[in-house]
Amino acid sequence: MENKNSRSIPEMYGSLVFDDREMRERLPKDIYKAVHKTIENGSHLELDVANVVASAMKEWALERGVTHFTHWFQPMTGLTAEKHDSFIAPEADGSVILEFSGKELVKGEPDASSFPSGGLRATFEARGYTAWDPSSPAFIKDRSLYIPTVFCSYGGEALDKKTPLLRSMEALNKQAVRLLNLLGFADVKQVHTTVGSEQEYFLIDKDLYLKRKDLLVTGRTLLGAPASKGQEMEDHYFGVLKPKVSAYMHELDEELWKLGVPVRTKHNEVAPAQHELAPVFETANVAVDHNQLTMEVMKKVADKYNYACLLHEKPFEGINGSGKHNNWSISTNTGVNLLNPGKHPAGNLLFQVFLIAVIAAVDEYADLLRISVASAGNDHRLGANEAPPAIISIFVGDELSGILESIEKETDYEESGKIQMEMGAEVLPHITKDNTDRNRTSPFAFTGNKFEFRMPGSAVSVANANIVLNTAVAEVLEQIYDTLKDVPQRQQEETLRILLRQMLIRHKRVLFNGNGYTDEWVEEAKRRGLDNLRNLPEAMPHWISDKSIDLFTKHGIFTREEIFSRYDILLENFAKTIHIESLTMQDMVRKDFTAGIVAYMKDLTQEACQKKTLLPDCACTMEESILKRLDQAAGELLKACETLASDTKEAEQIDDLLTCAQFYQDTILPDMEELRRIVDGAEYLIPDQYLPYPTYAEILFSLR
Ligand code: ADP
Ligand code: MG
Repeated sequence: MENKNSRSIPEMYGSLVFDDREMRERLPKDIYKAVHKTIENGSHLELDVANVVASAMKEWALERGVTHFTHWFQPMTGLTAEKHDSFIAPEADGSVILEFSGKELVKGEPDASSFPSGGLRATFEARGYTAWDPSSPAFIKDRSLYIPTVFCSYGGEALDKKTPLLRSMEALNKQAVRLLNLLGFADVKQVHTTVGSEQEYFLIDKDLYLKRKDLLVTGRTLLGAPASKGQEMEDHYFGVLKPKVSAYMHELDEELWKLGVPVRTKHNEVAPAQHELAPVFETANVAVDHNQLTMEVMKKVADKYNYACLLHEKPFEGINGSGKHNNWSISTNTGVNLLNPGKHPAGNLLFQVFLIAVIAAVDEYADLLRISVASAGNDHRLGANEAPPAIISIFVGDELSGILESIEKETDYEESGKIQMEMGAEVLPHITKDNTDRNRTSPFAFTGNKFEFRMPGSAVSVANANIVLNTAVAEVLEQIYDTLKDVPQRQQEETLRILLRQMLIRHKRVLFNGNGYTDEWVEEAKRRGLDNLRNLPEAMPHWISDKSIDLFTKHGIFTREEIFSRYDILLENFAKTIHIESLTMQDMVRKDFTAGIVAYMKDLTQEACQKKTLLPDCACTMEESILKRLDQAAGELLKACETLASDTKEAEQIDDLLTCAQFYQDTILPDMEELRRIVDGAEYLIPDQYLPYPTYAEILFSLR
């Protein structure tokens, strides 16, 4: 680690990235142009061009002490994967030279047969292939040159999250450009999806972390009674950073800046020990890569500070879990953000087209969006009262609601103009109000010039959410295009207005500006016919519905086989996750917690006996009462543990993936809850020194 003060931020920023600056400097002009063409238009890159790029990349990397290169990809585990090869090529005379060819840059064949493929690879070939994604720049980490790649099977089936993401960006681009050209914006040649994902996380003491098998193995606490204080004082949100936490965040910023990740905002979150980091938005696939890197670097830097960084969606019961807000918009190559309402949204037809297209897309494919954020971890969060409910609805705020209403009712919209905020003190600068207020309870909120999808979990890649969003919007844009394409120019605007109005009438049920956390909303949503898919097994059948298959295959995002493979992978992952949690819980209860109870009961009994020897008349009521309660708890918990164990054995026997996942949802999770209730109840009776693991209070409030 170099001296922190030795470099300025502009010098440090992107210093470990083979970015456009490096390419321009190091590549011959024609080669640089060819690479750019590939990045911008997705055109094929010739091998002789790749050879020159590889050579320049190698020289650049060697100057920075790099010894290896790796194709970096995002298999269906949701994590990233890498396999490192060194540059060395031994010569006959015993010496080595350092080599890196265009072929090695462009294509890799990791023997990656152990990644989940949902049966795709078994049918075709065991090998997976990685292929360079030139639109995301290569970078250096731990003395290796990282080359972002896609990962697919011999037959070209996507085995990763990046391939369908790129396909969905392409689909959206195609439909949006076509429509914009038709609407008279002839200069628009390209449209890209922009994403900024705010990442929440917990920081806890590493030593305490290592003492908890549940955190180590499953990423969340499976047992543990709530501390006497939780987040009810609301004193952590945006609170003053502790010096060591601040130092951690600072180093995290710097490490990410070096990797060209534009992190910008950091603050304490609502729950104790919870924090957030937000980057400046980028093109979707680069943003997704950068979010994966952010999660890795968060963990790595945490290690240096003797912290553990928890990215699980629900590490602690009773306090907020962590999410990842996916801020999303679409921009043209001419620099227009298509979701920017401008000064006069009521007169901005282009904005209205895209706003209503998103509303229609989200309503029409709400089930798929829900599935895009489904995981065993995130299910603990959705619907709990800190997170948006599992019902998808859209918040647009008062002003836009007014505009939409006037479109629907065909009335004129009275523009209120920017309202000055009245703060009651003349010395303060005048601030105008945004045209949307905030609604923290909405799962899909319009926030000024972008939509913020708040359902994604903190641990998973945001690729899925953006794949569904891009594809659904592409589909709606295509429908608009189809309606307009044969309409004479002079009738176009009128036809468009009629169409927007119809779309709005059909989809306005998804608009909801109220409090999404209330029971009334659940009832109201039901009346409106909105889905409430509370958990992954309940949601998954929608993924393989005809409507879903039609959507994805039509736009070339997934083949039928890819859809089914993802269905299998998600269900299997859900079942496996809960299976591991069940085994871990049984182990902690049987081996560790019971030992704690027994030790305490033994000491209590001995103490009572000694007391009786000294004071024969003493009743020992306190000891007796505690012993009785502990004895009862011990009996109950052994029984609950037996039930969990035998039900888990039963689950192991179920072959059908959906039935199996449902069994984990309906039987194993309630078994685990029941066991936890007993154990956590007993925890209150046992002094800390007898407990086999650190308590919530120690973990959440001891960080310095
Ligand atoms: P907020 O106050 O709503 O959190 P910020 O301006 O802080 O708004 O932005 C939050 C996140 O949204 C940041 O990651 C930011 O880069 C991202 N963002 C802003 N504009 C866009 C856009 N046009 N497309 C995608 N993300 C965006
Ligand atoms: Mg935000």
